[in-house]
Amino acid sequence: MFSVVNHVLQKDGKPVPQKPSPNHGGVMRPELLVLHYTASSSAAGAIATLTDGHASNRVSAHLVLDKDGGVTQLLPLNVVGWHVGKSAWEGRAGCNDFGIGIEQVNAGVLNHMADGSFRTQLGKQAVPASDVLHAQHRITHGWAYWQDYPDAQVQAAIAIGQALHGAYGFKDVVGHEDVATPPGRKTDPGPAYPLDLVRSRILGRQ
Ligand SMILES: [Zn+2]
Repeated sequence: MFSVVNHVLQKDGKPVPQKPSPNHGGVMRPELLVLHYTASSSAAGAIATLTDGHASNRVSAHLVLDKDGGVTQLLPLNVVGWHVGKSAWEGRAGCNDFGIGIEQVNAGVLNHMADGSFRTQLGKQAVPASDVLHAQHRITHGWAYWQDYPDAQVQAAIAIGQALHGAYGFKDVVGHEDVATPPGRKTDPGPAYPLDLVRSRILGRQ
């Protein structure tokens, strides 16, 4: 069971693993949950990028959710993270200023090799065909091969999202692709992600 105490995510009454990121702004009041994919295949790699204070493009997120449902917190939940970039929600620009970001470990768009196999674009790791979805993105309308999300990861996103919603009372749960501007700039979490299900389960609208 997840809960929130002093803007720290807890699992079964204990803080989840913490890996503080230097990449953040000031205090904010969370109103929006923004779901992402990392475009990488390991949580460790994503966390390294999201905590790198010397990168030319400094980024972060509040939580990194691994494929097995394991979660690491990088920022207090009431601090501005740098996960959305240029964006707008319901006419309000700058979603980082009021949005909690969860980065979900998922390779996103895959390369379809000449021999019919699939590989991640970053790291060129093999992905079994059973974990691949051929689908059209609902915003960019482009067809691509996408890596599927394991059920353990989706269920953890719902459980964490429900705890966050209980603490902060989100106005909405969106994908990065929904709020990035201009539209089509981002494709995460992409067509392999059951965003409607996750949103309705978190907000209790089912
Ligand atoms: Zn994103």
